[in-house]
Amino acid sequence: MSGEGGKPKTPLPGTYLKRDEYMKLPGLIKYKPVARYMFSAGQAQSRFLHGLKEGKILGVLCPSCRRVYVPPRAYCEYCHTPTSEWVELPGTGTIHTAVVSYIATDRSRLEEPEIVGVIRLDAPGYKEDQYEFAGLFHKICGVTPEQVMDGSAIGMRVKPRWKPAEERTGSVTDIECFEPVEG
Ligand SMILES: [Zn+2]
Repeated sequence: MSGEGGKPKTPLPGTYLKRDEYMKLPGLIKYKPVARYMFSAGQAQSRFLHGLKEGKILGVLCPSCRRVYVPPRAYCEYCHTPTSEWVELPGTGTIHTAVVSYIATDRSRLEEPEIVGVIRLDAPGYKEDQYEFAGLFHKICGVTPEQVMDGSAIGMRVKPRWKPAEERTGSVTDIECFEPVEG
């Protein structure tokens, strides 16, 4: 705990240094670090993100067990075979899990809750089971907190609501949310 003037409230033994005294201490090195970062999404993830910019949900196919990975993986997590070809999924899916969230992405509290959850994407013609399926964690629009609480949101058919093409940047947020398929 610091008291006034940066001194602890309970005095400790020793001699306190003032800031300018400290700055004159021998051996003190001053430097301004210049740290620049560039993050590469990697081969698989990059192509997936480019696909989003074009309004496509792309996955990679395991040639051995014919599972499709969204988000893409370089290797099949099920049988460890390198994934091979790219496939475009229709984008529709079902709500697999959903929660009512009062936490914004910056960890601040939301007054109006958001619904978020895992969307199990349709992958017609490909292998999937209870544990391995193409899916995305995303915002869910058009579903009420009550529908999440009573469980009726689970299994609901949804589709992506895309941002206008000119606003897309190659990010998962190019999809604003998943919303119920009408009818
Ligand atoms: Zn596989």
